Amino acid sequence: MPPGASGAARVYMDANATTPLLPQVVEAMRPFWTESFGNASSIHLDGQRARTAVDQAREILAELFHCHEAEVVFNSGGTEGDNTALFGLLRPGDHLITTSIEHSAVLQAARRVGGGGGVGVTYVDPEPSGLIHPEAIRAALRPETRLISVMLANNETGVLQPVEAIGKIAAEAGAFFHIDAVQAAGKIPLDVRRIGCHLLSISAHKMHGPKGVGAMFVRRGTPLEPLLVGGSHERRRRAGTENVPGIVGLGKAAEVAMTSLEDGTWDRVAALRNRLETGLVTMSGTGLNGAGSDGKPVTRVANTTNIWFDHVEGEALVIALDLKGVAVSGGSACHSGATEPSHVLLAMGLDKTRARASLRFSLLKTASEADVDHVLRVTPEAVEKLRAVSPVAAGTLG
Ligand code: PLP
Repeated sequence: MPPGASGAARVYMDANATTPLLPQVVEAMRPFWTESFGNASSIHLDGQRARTAVDQAREILAELFHCHEAEVVFNSGGTEGDNTALFGLLRPGDHLITTSIEHSAVLQAARRVGGGGGVGVTYVDPEPSGLIHPEAIRAALRPETRLISVMLANNETGVLQPVEAIGKIAAEAGAFFHIDAVQAAGKIPLDVRRIGCHLLSISAHKMHGPKGVGAMFVRRGTPLEPLLVGGSHERRRRAGTENVPGIVGLGKAAEVAMTSLEDGTWDRVAALRNRLETGLVTMSGTGLNGAGSDGKPVTRVANTTNIWFDHVEGEALVIALDLKGVAVSGGSACHSGATEPSHVLLAMGLDKTRARASLRFSLLKTASEADVDHVLRVTPEAVEKLRAVSPVAAGTLG
């Protein structure tokens, strides 16, 4: 029976949206909902049990980031980390350099500080490949540049940004450097010292942990104002009773992720992704988003590919594939009720039609050959059907 039919297993290729909890993550969290329910701030035994669990998770995160435990701050996820970096560091008169391909958690925070907040903001555009050139960051520097915020892996294309080179530029300029590593954590090694960043945000649910919990690396001495006040939690950097089960789940997910970084998991996923990508672009009227001028993909995380299918409405293809048991994402997002083409693809120079005709396939690390076979079987058929009813493909529109 094909995936998706009559409740059969589905092929989930939307890992960049979210991932399922691993069984060992669920098991690790379980006691902290019930018998070990204490508040990590209480001094009695129940509180101490919770505190010990939070501290153990902190040690694991410090290992993931390659930092000191005191530099790990637990929070509610990537959006909070990104918001905290911008709102916590920038004041009127400062200048922020970010990019036009950031997640909206950075872009909308940048708009807020830039609008009423009196902060000058420069949005650096990527090259057509999706890469941000470090020299474009350097060219945007001003004497009052206080923060540079650049993502590590783009959520739509998977393209990895040259953060080490940008870190050097930030250091030379005396600017703080924040990295949104939400889509990179667990997929590539992170080393905050080598990168030279001051702040880095991650989210548990993108790496087989629970939703609504994340962590931030905050380099010692960084004058980051807390976003949330009201308690002395997390060394006064993030008030609010700790989400103990969530933090334990994040810790376990990070521990497993570190093993996956070393056991060949991502080489296997990259091979599957490459086979999928090669298979899809053999269809006429298709191409890869995230390729250099030589047509070859630039450096990306192993699980992501983004492909345009001319004369196809991406959202229609997402639905057609869903009906065939395949979950993917389109190159557009819903903003205030209207479907807008992806700001990332537009910034890379795609026109609106091609951006709307693009799909993101993001594989889980448990993806199989059979998953790829299925997608390669059903996609051409779905694309052909949509093209057959497309006025543009039929030549009835200009
Ligand atoms: N940053 C990036 C690059 C993301 O892909 C996402 C989620 O899609 C976020 C930030 C927001 O993370 P969260 O869902 O934990 O708020």
